[in-house]
Amino acid sequence: MSPSLKLGIVGFGKIARDEHVPAIARTEGLGLTAVASRHGLAEGVQNYRSLTDMLAAQPELDAIVLCQPPAARFAAAKEALAAGKHVFLEKPPGISLSEVALLRDLAERKGVTLFASWHSRYAASVAPLKQWCAGRKLRRVTIEWREDVTLWHPGQEWIWEAGGFGVMDPGINALSILTEVIGEPVRLVSSRLEFPSNKGAPIGAELAMETESGVPIAALFDWRETGPQTWRIHFEAENDRFDFVQGQTSHPEGETALSFEYRALYARFLDLVRGRRSDVDLAPLQLVADAFLAGRIDIVQPFDQ
Ligand code: NAP
Repeated sequence: MSPSLKLGIVGFGKIARDEHVPAIARTEGLGLTAVASRHGLAEGVQNYRSLTDMLAAQPELDAIVLCQPPAARFAAAKEALAAGKHVFLEKPPGISLSEVALLRDLAERKGVTLFASWHSRYAASVAPLKQWCAGRKLRRVTIEWREDVTLWHPGQEWIWEAGGFGVMDPGINALSILTEVIGEPVRLVSSRLEFPSNKGAPIGAELAMETESGVPIAALFDWRETGPQTWRIHFEAENDRFDFVQGQTSHPEGETALSFEYRALYARFLDLVRGRRSDVDLAPLQLVADAFLAGRIDIVQPFDQ
């Protein structure tokens, strides 16, 4: 059996604690050795205040997992790749297409793995959905991602800043599923973004998209939903339809939809590292970037959390 891959996490916030640590613990062949955090402390591993300190103290680390907000990821990813480490990027992989492309090239030159993860693609119903799409002529796709930001992102100031993505942070999860299953390139046709007058990122967004063969796709992302929370993608084919609803699949006891996705992500990462391959699909980030590029911006009333 090959020895365990020694991992270091950078950015010890919600997703690192809730999903990365347990998923690493449950994956044979992986071991969490170190955490670099400006404020937090992780139990049972070496703690450092920065990635630089961590790399200097533990040159034996094989891979670095970056769980900070996207604006902080590029510098850390560059540092880790330059040190010859495999790198696992939380989603979204960066705040611009150009910086992620640069990281992809650097990983290739260094002969290490770069994994731009999209956890929503690993939901249990995504593979069956992809198969369903492959056998049908689609008529239209409708995405509805409505949630209450105060429930899901309390106290996360970074998410409201430029480069924090705002409502595109959950919205890009829907786009990652769409681009995984649809089976052909998708282009942005038009978009409208709603920015609260006191924030640097959108609270609402409408995107009109189209596949290469002309299938229309409409997406609505809204962070002001205080009623039932909705994460749905409706696929309409000629004589058939498929409703993808995030988090609806049942899992065995002790497993949530998200923990299932993170275990699958780490299995994928291990496989990529062993095969010395990278997985950097920029399609979801491209659509978000295009929505910002082509979008009409409406300033809406201020929003306080
Ligand atoms: P979070 O709770 O705010 O944690 C982010 C951590 O990153 C902070 O605790 C901080 O940790 C570190 N950090 C480094 N530079 C920072 C900066 N400039 N501003 C703020 N924090 C900084 O956020 P999160 O929910 O874990 O999300 C992190 C990433 O994971 C995001 O890209 C998000 O889209 C993705 N994600 C989140 C979820 C979720 O359910 N929350 C699910 C999937 C993916 P230190 O104090 O340790 O340095």
